[in-house]
Amino acid sequence: MKIILLGPPGAGKGTIAKVLTQFDGSVQISTGDILRTAVAAGTELGKQAEATMKAGDLVTDDLIMGIMEERLKQDDCKAGYLLDGFPRTISQAQSLKLLLEKMGEKLDCALELDIAREIIIDRLTTRRTCSQCGEIYNVKFKPPKVEGICDVCGGNVVQRDDETAEAISNRLQVYSDQTAPLVDFYRDEGLLLSVQNSDGEEILGLLKSKLAIG
Ligand code: AMP
Repeated sequence: MKIILLGPPGAGKGTIAKVLTQFDGSVQISTGDILRTAVAAGTELGKQAEATMKAGDLVTDDLIMGIMEERLKQDDCKAGYLLDGFPRTISQAQSLKLLLEKMGEKLDCALELDIAREIIIDRLTTRRTCSQCGEIYNVKFKPPKVEGICDVCGGNVVQRDDETAEAISNRLQVYSDQTAPLVDFYRDEGLLLSVQNSDGEEILGLLKSKLAIG
């Protein structure tokens, strides 16, 4: 499957992506994860993105398109991909369309996770993330067995810099100003599938019937 996951921060894009990748071996590509890895490693890309990310703003379209052009050409993308957090602007969506045309590829679907603002704010302020492997926890519903330590890899479980109340409110504003218009963009392209409060298995079922796959 070649799918774009659309939805505000905290909508559950990463969680849904895991279910879908297990189904057909497609890869999850999260531009946020790629950038966080670059920041942690102190690379040139990381240095360029760090302050912008911390404030909850978007890094430049050029920077993101450079990353994605390289990533989508890698071999593991042949089995399909779920784009998590990309595109985030109309300009990125237009550039992606041109890039895929050049590569002779076509998207199957843009999946919108439509979710109420209050639920998102609650989720993001209680979310914790392993700084090493990216495993997601929640202080209320899924705390790590030992506080602050990842069950999976033993890394430090922390609150992301951009999950303070101020940064969250900015990220939601940035989403509604710059990313929400993509819903209409993909509706016009005939690719939109919108779901509300569905879990990964339900979404997988919907996708299977929409895309007529087994
Ligand atoms: P995420 O984990 O997807 O919420 O991304 C974390 C941060 O990385 C965002 O708040 C942006 O600063 C940056 N970022 C991730 N993806 C993009 C993108 N497609 N365009 C611009 N900035 C991005």
